[in-house]
Amino acid sequence: MLSYQVTENALQNKVILITGAGDGIGKTAALNFARKGAEVILLGRTVEKLEKVYDQIVSDGGKEPAIVPLDLNGATASHYQQLAQTIREQFGRLDGLLHNASVLGHLRPFVQIPEQEWQQVMQVNLNSVFLMTQALIPVLKLSETASVVMTSSGVGRQGRAYWGTYAISKFATEGMMQLLADEYSGSSIRFNCINPGATRTSMRAKAYPGEDPNQLKTPEDIMPVYLYLMSDESKEVNGQSLDAQPK
Ligand code: NDP
Repeated sequence: MLSYQVTENALQNKVILITGAGDGIGKTAALNFARKGAEVILLGRTVEKLEKVYDQIVSDGGKEPAIVPLDLNGATASHYQQLAQTIREQFGRLDGLLHNASVLGHLRPFVQIPEQEWQQVMQVNLNSVFLMTQALIPVLKLSETASVVMTSSGVGRQGRAYWGTYAISKFATEGMMQLLADEYSGSSIRFNCINPGATRTSMRAKAYPGEDPNQLKTPEDIMPVYLYLMSDESKEVNGQSLDAQPK
């Protein structure tokens, strides 16, 4: 049962950046944040997808979003510093940051993981979260109550054979969240994780090609916990890893 509830204008006046906002869970989160009144910054690598999300938000009557085309695989610390400066100039602060973009790599035995795949999955799923968070903390500090949400997974809490680099990157994500939550405890910035659970997206279809997607929850179904963690209703919540599909 999904028990997180927020009010109609729960994200009014909030500026929220979403990574991987062009597809899957990130796209649906961006649309939902905008529907609840947020100004959203759509970051992703495929501009056409981001433009479609932009158009949908505008035609739904939401506030005009910003688009940041960025491939997290190639982005360096200076790209993130530039992003922080642009956000400061255009919005004056950042209230929410959803680290959502990830890649799966390939499921295979540990001894067969190619070094290049390890580097690429770690770059997108982990290093980008480190570099972006480090660069954006000064603009998050300009918000009265800022929420940073990282995206975990069941395989980031309990090791599972063949889930390789992806699973290890998610364990590290949980660790980064816990460390930051402790370091910033008592401050205006809170850090939490969401484990989406099995959700109908292209990543899930790649991991489970034989599965019937109609049996799965949709990204829309799992939105309550995303809205809750981005709203002030969760302002006392710090250092938690929440399930979007609690049992
Ligand atoms: P999708 O593959 O459907 O979407 C991922 C998004 O991330 C896409 O918009 C993609 O862009 C973007 N992205 C990927 N690589 C990069 C990159 N190098 N630079 C910028 N953007 C990038 O995944 P989901 O929506 O399923 O997953 C969202 C999050 O939820 C991930 O962190 C995933 O690990 C996690 N998760 C998902 C589960 C599920 O069942 N779906 C279960 C557990 C966790 P593009 O469209 O251009 O490729």
